[in-house]
Parts: sequence; structure tokens; C-alpha cells
Amino acid sequence: MVQRRDFLKSAGIALASASTAAVSGAETKAPPPAPHAGTPEAAPPCAHVQPSIIVDGVRTPLPLVRAQPDRIIALTVCTRPFREHGPRIEKQRLGRKTIVHNYGHGGSGWSLSWGSATLALRLVQETRQERIAVIGCGVIGLTSALVAQRAGMKVRIYAKERFPDVRSTFATGNWSPNSRFCTREAATPELVARWEEMARISFRTYQHLLGLPGNPIEWFDGYYLRDGNGFGADLFAGEPDYPNLESRLSDLMPGGEVLAPGTHPFPVPFVRRYTNMIFNISAYSRMLMADFLAAGGEIETREFEKPEDIARLREKTVINATGYGARALFGDESVIPVRGQLMRLIPQPEVRYGLAYNDQLYMLPRRDGIVLQSPAPGDFGNEDTTPDRAGAERTVQMLADLNQRIRASLPCAQ
Ligand SMILES: Cc1cc2nc3c(=O)[nH]c(=O)nc-3n(C[C@H](O)[C@H](O)[C@H](O)COP(=O)(O)OP(=O)(O)OC[C@H]3O[C@@H](n4cnc5c(N)ncnc54)[C@H](O)[C@@H]3O)c2cc1C
Repeated sequence: MVQRRDFLKSAGIALASASTAAVSGAETKAPPPAPHAGTPEAAPPCAHVQPSIIVDGVRTPLPLVRAQPDRIIALTVCTRPFREHGPRIEKQRLGRKTIVHNYGHGGSGWSLSWGSATLALRLVQETRQERIAVIGCGVIGLTSALVAQRAGMKVRIYAKERFPDVRSTFATGNWSPNSRFCTREAATPELVARWEEMARISFRTYQHLLGLPGNPIEWFDGYYLRDGNGFGADLFAGEPDYPNLESRLSDLMPGGEVLAPGTHPFPVPFVRRYTNMIFNISAYSRMLMADFLAAGGEIETREFEKPEDIARLREKTVINATGYGARALFGDESVIPVRGQLMRLIPQPEVRYGLAYNDQLYMLPRRDGIVLQSPAPGDFGNEDTTPDRAGAERTVQMLADLNQRIRASLPCAQ
């Protein structure tokens, strides 16, 4: 339960402050029979009524996601580069080079990237080099390169892959600075303070990326729903205990609110509104690449098999932002893969809210597709990136069932 709650917090979802009884003791309406996957749903009696929700006293439309398996346009599996003690951000001498490591950000790499890059930059500046190399062109490599450019350095990126082929592409895309950052045991006051500094630097940076063409970064409201069904099996079995750090950032975000019955269309006894940031990964990663190139950055496609290969680079200071790749390149077995599957449905620009339903289904309204995700048992330590199509269809079906319950419970006049 502790892990589950922390996962939700990590997903950027401010959990209910209501009592446990309010969450688990409520009755659950039996759902009507689900339509067959992929077939049109039967029209409910009040099909003309559109779901809506009251926001700040104003009734606002709440368009439903078209939850059909044949609308899946991308099904991806990726591994989070988790380290028990958090990301490795430190200097290492390698022959005549200085390597500044910046890898191992678990499920929070997008969120912490700017802060982590700033911490790495301080170490780079100690070497007094004006030309540096960055190995890796995921979100950590690009943000490391950009902060170094802003500090006046000339930067060349060397990487095996670049967007959209890097692992960073396959992230969910929400502000989740505390998602699988470190274990509870390893969370010393020093590590927690470092996490908070990274998170606050990143948060500030993101507020300067709002309102730009293509909406790389946005804020959205979401709804945390609970109908008491909860988990069948423990989906987080085998995972370590994670610390609950997000309360340290509570001054940054709106706190969320429990919604009264009649103010929302969800047929569940417990609903809480939360507010979070979204990273529209397609637009945002293009923006990062374009900014790097516009500032004179260069990218060279190259794969390094062993640390000695780095010795041949012309730059004397090198940031290592190889993510999960650091495990093989530097033989660092402290990097543990944590598998995660997600899918994107065809974008629906009218859907501007997120959902977290019964801890089993997450929906994020990204501009490049409606992202759906369900946690699965056995993800920790699992580097298998084979997609599970049947699992993906079950996730879509869960949303289709919820939609049908919403429609069936709408009053005919609103
Ligand atoms: C399912 C899932 C959902 C997630 N959701 C979120 C989220 O919502 N919010 C969030 O903040 N974070 C999220 N994350 C975490 C986030 O995606 C990662 O922490 C982040 O992408 C790590 O970025 P990176 O740049 O270190 O790694 P990568 O993206 O893997 O980039 C590594 C780079 O190094 C290069 N490289 C590696 N090895 C070598 C080598 N030997 N030689 C040359 N080049 C090499 C690669 O080609 C690549 O360019 C999620 C992760 C997963 C798996």
C-alpha cells in the first residue's frame, strides 16, 4: 500500500486527504456489461447528453476518450534507469579526461533533467574547459548540453541514437520528480536535499517553456477516481520501498480538491481533482534539438563500447549521459531496469484532462496522442522490451468500460 501510494504521488497526482474509509468503504455500482472490444458501443438512453464537470462554479464539457483498440497508434515498452542511491552525478578521472557522470534518473528523468544538468555543469566548470563533449542525446544529454552552451561552452554530442529513437521518447510525459528516484533506505538528508534542488531548478525552467508554439509544456487538470475495486494482485510486488518526497514541493503546485457528488460525471464514490504539468514529448524533444543546433551545437553519431573509447575524443571534459546504456558502457550494475509499457491513441485535441482510475489505469492528454498506461507486476529488474498487445487492449477496455458507466449514469437533462 505504501508503495502504491508513493507511486501515485510520483505520478504527480496529489492523493486524497480523505479518510481511508471514505475511499475503501464506499459501495460500488456493478458496471453494465462491456461492449465487445473494437466494436461501436450501444447508444445509452441519454446519448445526446455530453458529460460535463463543474470547475470553479462553471459547468464545463468533459469529452470522453475514444477508447478503442484500433485507435492505438503506438505501443512502446521502455526501461527506466533506476539506481538505489539516485542518479550518479559525479566526476571521474579517466586517463587524461574528466568524465562527469549524469545518469540513472529512474522514472523522473524528464522532470529532473534541468536541475540534474545544472548540478553536472558545476562539476564541468571546475575543469575550466571551454569545449566539452556530451555522450548521449536523450533528455539528460540534451539538457546537459543546453545548460553548458548557456554557460558559454562549445558542445559536441556523441550518441548512438537521437530522438525519436532514444529511450526518453517512450516516457509517459508528466511532471513526476519523485518517480523511482531512489529507495527509502538510501534517502539520506543529503540525497533528499539534492533531489529538492534538482526538482526546484527544473520546475522553474519549465515555467519559462509555457505558451510556446507546439505547446511543448502545459498544465492540465486530472481526476483521481476510486471505486473501491482496487488491485487484484499487487502490481508493485518485487519493487523496493520508495520515499515520499513530494510534500517538500507542496508550495509549487495547486493542492487539489475532493469533488462533491453531482459536480462531476464519474460513477465512482471518490473523485479528487489534481493539477500537473505535461511534457508533449514530440514537440518538446524537437525544441530541445533545435535549440541545441541553433546555439552552434554539433551531433555526431557514434557508439562507445568501453570507457577507453572515450579517451580518443578530442574534448578533455566529457559528460556521460548514456542513461541505461551506462550499465554496459561503464559496467555499472547499480543501474536497474524498470520496465514500462504505454500506448498512444489517436490525438483528441478536445480532451484536456487526465485520469488516474483505481490505481490501474492512467490517462494523459498529450498533444501527440492520448497516453494510456497500466502498471504491471514484474516490471522491476525486467529489461524485456517486448510489447504486450493483449495487456494494452485490456487497458483500453478498462477505459471503454469506465466510459460506458459514465454514459449510463448521465441524467437525461443537465
Ligand atoms: C515507461 C516510462 C515512463 C516514464 N515516464 C516519465 C515521466 O512521465 N516523467 C519523467 O520525468 N520521467 C519519466 N520516465 C523516465 C525518463 O524517461 C528517463 O529517466 C529518461 O528518459 C532518461 O533519459 P536519459 O537521457 O538518461 O536516457 P536515454 O533516453 O536512454 O538516452 C541515452 C542516450 O545515450 C546514448 N547511448 C547509450 N549508450 C551509448 C553508447 N554505448 N555509446 C553511445 N551512445 C550511447 C543513447 O543512444 C541515447 O542517445 C519514464 C520512463 C519510462 C520507461
